[in-house]
Amino acid sequence: MKLKKNSLIIKIWKYLIIFSIFILAFLWLFQIVFLNTFYEKSKTKELNNIVKTINKEYQNNTLINTINDISTNNDICLELVEGSSYIYNNPYNRNCLDKKEAALYKQKFIISGQKTQTYKLINPRFNNRTLVVALKLDNNLYAYSSISLQPLDSTINILKNQLIITTIILLILSFIISFFVSKKLSNPIIKISKMANSLSKVEKTNFEIDEDIDEINELVNTLNDVSIELNKTEELRRELMANVGHDLKTPLTMIKAYAEMVRDLTYKNKEKRDSNLNTIIEETDKLNLLVNDIIELSKLQTNNIELNYEQFDLNELIKETIHRFNYLEELEGYQIIYNNQSNIMIYADKKRLEQVIYNLLNNAINYTGEDKKVYINVSLNNNKYKIEIIDTGKGINKKDINLIWEKYYKVDKNYSRNKIGTGIGLSIVKNILTKHNLEFGVTSKLGNGSNFWFKISKKESK
Ligand code: ADP
Repeated sequence: MKLKKNSLIIKIWKYLIIFSIFILAFLWLFQIVFLNTFYEKSKTKELNNIVKTINKEYQNNTLINTINDISTNNDICLELVEGSSYIYNNPYNRNCLDKKEAALYKQKFIISGQKTQTYKLINPRFNNRTLVVALKLDNNLYAYSSISLQPLDSTINILKNQLIITTIILLILSFIISFFVSKKLSNPIIKISKMANSLSKVEKTNFEIDEDIDEINELVNTLNDVSIELNKTEELRRELMANVGHDLKTPLTMIKAYAEMVRDLTYKNKEKRDSNLNTIIEETDKLNLLVNDIIELSKLQTNNIELNYEQFDLNELIKETIHRFNYLEELEGYQIIYNNQSNIMIYADKKRLEQVIYNLLNNAINYTGEDKKVYINVSLNNNKYKIEIIDTGKGINKKDINLIWEKYYKVDKNYSRNKIGTGIGLSIVKNILTKHNLEFGVTSKLGNGSNFWFKISKKESK
């Protein structure tokens, strides 16, 4: 595997190394550089606390009884001096300074007249540093407590050696761990990205990984959904191509055939010629309708349309739309039964709503039953109009009922000539009603016809 600069392995490795370096730097600082300072600080604090106790005991007049305990329990050198005579001392304590050495700082302290003072001296007896706190208890009464500071050089050396080993081990470990961690993380990603390649070729892909990482599992689930959706779309696209191809080809064949007929045979006979030409015009209209539908849907779906809201009477619009189907009523005996309402004032895009009603009515006529009846009902409830377009046809299957709104979807895929459908009509309806933010739906039972409805507020204004 070739490693790139920005690969997960390099990134994780880099961060882990930086993290380890930080930890090591802190360890070095606290263990080696500041060890002496920490040590002295803690010893000074310890000694100061003892001196505080001494002072307290003196104030309570109990110092004489407790001084020996204080000295031995804390393992310090303690001297209580009045004038030039010792009231208490433990000269054999290893923390005690040489008498001569001690005399010097004691004199200094007495002259300074201060209440308390801390000194750091070298004890020539053991050649080590000694910490002394001098305390003036009374006019002529002084307490001196001292403790020797251990040389830390050898400790520091041991720690240093340990730290060097720790550093090396930590760096090697972080290298190995980061390699495995990043491999574990990047493997499924690499696998997924390889699988995703086939997505672009619209192949059915089933994403699966062995690792159990929540975020990656989510990605896998999403990609599986995408794959299913893509396949569905692809299937629909193929179907549409077949349908549209068929829809385009039939009228074109007819147009060509009739045009040839006019040219070669019927051009002299006015009656026959006109009839042929009419067929050509009808077929051209069908083509036009189909192409318009496709253009309309693509416009709606790419959000290229703005709604032109206006207030208008839906009653008029429904009547006008019904009027457009007059020819079917006259020629083929269809009946559109409308429970005429007066004044249905609403606020919407009139042209788009006409499209909705036209498409729904067109479907209802196409799919209605033997009685050739279609009903339009408008009712008012809670200030909302419910517009229903009802047919008496064979209804829609439960499994298809949610899918019919999708573009290119047709329940009956077998092409039947008298029902010119592209599977686009309801998709346009859905798009327009959704853009208007309107409630809509369909209720249908097999064998019992369908009821396509939508609701719109009375005189709604935005
Ligand atoms: P089409 O142009 O095929 O009618 P639509 O998008 O208008 O396309 O409708 C999609 C599918 O929904 C139709 O092919 C048809 O199977 C079904 N459908 C629509 N309206 C009705 C209805 N009133 N009764 C039964 N099925 C319908």
